[in-house]
Amino acid sequence: MQIKSRIRTIAHYPHEGIMFRDITTLLKDAIGLRATIQEIAKRQKEVQIDKVAGIESRGFIIGAPVAYELGVGFVPIRKKGKLPAETRGRDYQLEYGSDRIEIHVDAIQKGDRVLLVDDLIATGGTAEAAAALIQEMGGEVVECCFVIDLPDIGGRSRLENQGLKVFALCEFE
Ligand code: AMP
Repeated sequence: MQIKSRIRTIAHYPHEGIMFRDITTLLKDAIGLRATIQEIAKRQKEVQIDKVAGIESRGFIIGAPVAYELGVGFVPIRKKGKLPAETRGRDYQLEYGSDRIEIHVDAIQKGDRVLLVDDLIATGGTAEAAAALIQEMGGEVVECCFVIDLPDIGGRSRLENQGLKVFALCEFE
C-alpha cells in the first residue's frame, strides 16, 4: 500500500520556501485512510496502550481512529486557550517566535501508557513539548507516531536523543 504516493506537496505554502505535505489527498482516499490507521494501530497490538494523545489539529484526524482501533480513549493536545477545563501547558520555540500547547489536567493518569500521534514531524518541537506534558503528568510515552517524517530537519533524532521511540509511515526529503 503506497501511502506516500497519496500525499500531495504544495510548494511555498504557507510561506515562501516551505514544501507543505498535504495529507488531505491521503485522507479522502478510502484505501489510503484505512491503511494509514491500520499501519499505525497494528504496531501497538502487542503492547499495552492506555490512551492515544493527538496533537491539534491533524493529529486528531489520525489519532482518534487509531484509539478506536486499539479500543482505548483519545486525549486532545490543543493550541493555547482552546480546552475548556483546567489545563497544564508548555511553551515551545517555532522558527519565528513561540507557541503553546495545552492538555487537560485530568486527561492522563499516573502510569498511563500513551501513544502520541501527529501527522508530521519536522523540527520535533511540537512533539517534544507534547511528550514532556504527558510525562509531567506521570504518563509514559510508549511511542511517537507520525504519518510523515522530514528526516533532514532532524526532529526524529531530537526525540530519540530524549529516549523517545519514534515511528513514521513515510519520509520526504
Ligand atoms: P515541528 O514542531 O517542527 O516538528 O512541526 C510539526 C507540526 O507542524 C506538525 O503539527 C505539522 O502538521 C506541521 N508542519 C511542519 N512542517 C510541515 C510541512 N512541511 N508540511 C505540513 N505540515 C507541517
